[in-house]
Amino acid sequence: MIGMTYSEALFGVLALWLVFLSVLWLRELQRIKRHEWHLSNGRLFHCDICHHSFISKEQVSLTRCPRCNSICIRRKRRSTFPSN
Ligand SMILES: [Zn+2]
Repeated sequence: MIGMTYSEALFGVLALWLVFLSVLWLRELQRIKRHEWHLSNGRLFHCDICHHSFISKEQVSLTRCPRCNSICIRRKRRSTFPSN
């Protein structure tokens, strides 16, 4: 038999649970940081056909509207948001 009292065993289980939760929390922080969206004026598009505004995943000047599939061109405008 292991020479351990009930309180020591309970403390050990709680310590292991705390380590497990910390590892999961750090993994979640890394996942959020990896898939984080950055709003910038270069990624914001507005479809002239269906008036749908959307954000593209990459900073491109030409993309397709996710609603009506028409080609949207980003026109150079005065910047209202700080661009990244
Ligand atoms: Zn559209």
